[in-house]
Amino acid sequence: MDFKNYIADVKDFPEEGIVFRDISPLMQDGEAYAAAIQKIVEFAKDKGVDKVVGPEARGFMVGCPVAVELKCGFAMARKKGKLPRETVEVAYGLEYGEAVLQLHQDAVRPGEKVLVCDDLLATGGTTLATVELIEKLGGEVVGLAFLIELLDLKGRDKISEYDIFNLMEY
Ligand code: 5GP
Repeated sequence: MDFKNYIADVKDFPEEGIVFRDISPLMQDGEAYAAAIQKIVEFAKDKGVDKVVGPEARGFMVGCPVAVELKCGFAMARKKGKLPRETVEVAYGLEYGEAVLQLHQDAVRPGEKVLVCDDLLATGGTTLATVELIEKLGGEVVGLAFLIELLDLKGRDKISEYDIFNLMEY
């Protein structure tokens, strides 16, 4: 399956000069969505994953079905102020702006093996923040999985010590 057929390239969104890779056509197609998730499951299945963590919001759409397939838990990494209980947090830079990401204190237990899932790797800021949160809680990051990696932005350089999987590269 050519997964790129299910990505809409949107010029000048959210700002002029940026080509936004919109994954929503892929999610809207049952077969393509399932096939994409299956590829990540194959990447992760022998890693002994205890938990999947995904940053909001599209990381949920990738991470949740992967977690269900792997029969492990899922934890949400959310922007500051969205999680109701005790949290750990990390400030990070985005492709467009700055933010603080949080995980519930009990989202990952010490020693758990964790897979991070998101739709897209751009500068790597979001992923690095997610990894830092997991490691603050004592988790071991065993893999990072994305639908899309934007090679020009070299996000991979920030997280090169981890095992990275992508389904598509631009
Ligand atoms: P980074 O932190 O790696 O610079 O940016 C990645 C995050 O921003 C991901 O959580 C992703 O959802 C979002 N993002 C940035 N650019 C794009 C894009 O072109 N398409 C999509 N779908 N998400 C993007």
